[in-house]
Amino acid sequence: MMTFREKAARLTQLTTLDDVEHGTLKTDGAQNHHLWSDTQYPHRQLVNRFRAEVKDHYFWQQRFRCCYCSTELQPNARVYDAEHILDKSGFPEFMFHPENIAVACVICNTHKSAKSVLTDGTLRPQTIPGTSTDYKILHPHLDEWDHHLSFDEIGRIAPIPGSTKGPETISICAMDGINLLRLSGHFAAKYRKRVYEMMCKVVTYVSPSKIDDTFRIMRELAEQSPDALAVVATLKDRVAQLQAQRAADAAAARAAQVS
Ligand SMILES: [Zn+2]
Repeated sequence: MMTFREKAARLTQLTTLDDVEHGTLKTDGAQNHHLWSDTQYPHRQLVNRFRAEVKDHYFWQQRFRCCYCSTELQPNARVYDAEHILDKSGFPEFMFHPENIAVACVICNTHKSAKSVLTDGTLRPQTIPGTSTDYKILHPHLDEWDHHLSFDEIGRIAPIPGSTKGPETISICAMDGINLLRLSGHFAAKYRKRVYEMMCKVVTYVSPSKIDDTFRIMRELAEQSPDALAVVATLKDRVAQLQAQRAADAAAARAAQVS
């Protein structure tokens, strides 16, 4: 069976920069991560060529999908980002290494930002770690997307049971936002915005009566649509899970205080 999106083959040989030019970028970049977007940098043209080649390579390798959420990207480099898997401010020495770059949607890239993605967050590697287990999130070139994440029957990005990278990736890229947006699409157009805002809030509520009230309103706005009612039921399960998780966390915190 064909996988949803194969992991990308890493770009190992640049064609638009020679080794000397590439070496210049690596040396200069290691000193200053702002060079990535510094328009005053004397070797700006090299950066532009590097960025264009790397983005083009991974766009096609990733089957034109975001490396984290697998949202389809359009073939216009303005609408997707070169994503540094080890972030450029924390690891400027790897900023111009193509194997540390993938393409991501702007939303995933923005949320991921400079968050730590290494399993051992204290590690200061001399070379780019090359094993899947070195990373706590799904790695675009070392992991298969659908071993860790999938789209469920109502279009949400969901972790594969048993995967720890799936939930970590959802959390680091804040995919709950797009998930709720997709759920709101099952409601009538006139209610979508209101339902989306309620969904964003209800996952944070602690009070059971507040939760019940919100779900009662959502069920009314579903207006007997089986699709929308199924969404409400699914979200209710999700909120119950979150409540149970909070209770467990609180109990663990209390136990830690006592001991
Ligand atoms: Zn994405």
